[in-house]
Amino acid sequence: MSRRVVIHGIEQIDPRETRAWRRLRDLVVREEPNCQLQLPGCTGASQTADHILPVIQRPDLALVRSNLRGACHPCNMARGTTAAQDAHWTL
Ligand SMILES: [Zn+2]
Repeated sequence: MSRRVVIHGIEQIDPRETRAWRRLRDLVVREEPNCQLQLPGCTGASQTADHILPVIQRPDLALVRSNLRGACHPCNMARGTTAAQDAHWTL
């Protein structure tokens, strides 16, 4: 079962659970191999894609390349765009 989230009062599949997301994320990591965030604890190497405008605010931009930048896991976690929001979104 795919993880489901409620965005704007509508229950839907988390956009990041889709094959399209994984393909786009891999593209971003290839194009931006160096982490763009450089926060404390940064490993320097992109492993994932960070949403510049969070999915929770702009789900319509979840799969838009211009809203993504390469990021390492510690930076992405520090921004709260993965674990913290996932916990918030999960039903
Ligand atoms: Zn980083």
